[in-house]
Amino acid sequence: MNGRTSDVAGLVATFFGQAVAYFGVVGLVWLLVWKVFAARLAGRKVPTPRPSDRAQLLHEVRYSLATLAFGTLGVVVISWLSEHGYARLSANPADFSPGQLALTFGGLLLLNDLWFYGFHRLLHTRWAFTHLHSVHHRSVEVTPFSSYSFHPLEGFLLGAWIYPVCLWVPIWLPMLAALQALGLANNVMSHLGYELWPAWLVRVPGLRWVNSATFHSLHHTRVNGNFGLMLRVWDRLLGTEVPGYDEVFRSVTKSGSSRRAP
Ligand SMILES: [Zn+2]
Ligand SMILES: [Zn+2]
Repeated sequence: MNGRTSDVAGLVATFFGQAVAYFGVVGLVWLLVWKVFAARLAGRKVPTPRPSDRAQLLHEVRYSLATLAFGTLGVVVISWLSEHGYARLSANPADFSPGQLALTFGGLLLLNDLWFYGFHRLLHTRWAFTHLHSVHHRSVEVTPFSSYSFHPLEGFLLGAWIYPVCLWVPIWLPMLAALQALGLANNVMSHLGYELWPAWLVRVPGLRWVNSATFHSLHHTRVNGNFGLMLRVWDRLLGTEVPGYDEVFRSVTKSGSSRRAP
């Protein structure tokens, strides 16, 4: 096997590895929440004006595969930057102090969240929405399969913060993997369609700034607000939170309550 053939084989293996892991996680969550426990969780279904159908599900799977393919190219770029000494990545924990690791982890989480908020607002401008972001908003009722259903260029833009950052900031490789896993978990939670957080989430100082399935479902049903990824902070500070979010959240998390359409 020559070098080029083994490179292509490596790429295909990376893509299939990511696809199997992604669809394994998303499929299992969908099976549990949308099928096995659907009746028990019926009171926690976030109301939607347009239910998902088979065509939407196929659309979500198709675009998720495109997003994963671009993600594979991202892995290639990061590997190239690392191999040629540009990216400051290390697999050795001895290269970092505990304080440095904690600071980098918190800083990158915040940066990712702010980057997402900024680009998400740009994606809601007329041209970008028509040509890119409408792919994601094809899902009015979100399902776990909506999590990676993006136009490939949008998927690239939302994750592109890592390229300039890895040139300047020393990053421990397992931390990068943990950030990716946390991002996926948050994405699946946001597109669950069911609210699993307890009712007191929006009453506890600190925790009330954390995102929820209701928060992001309202973004898909009302479109013009709730742009945040993991935190509500940016929407609160910049006045883009959907009015009545707390009320809808309380309605969805109060068992036996009368439901209010979004
Ligand atoms: Zn959007
Ligand atoms: Zn979404």
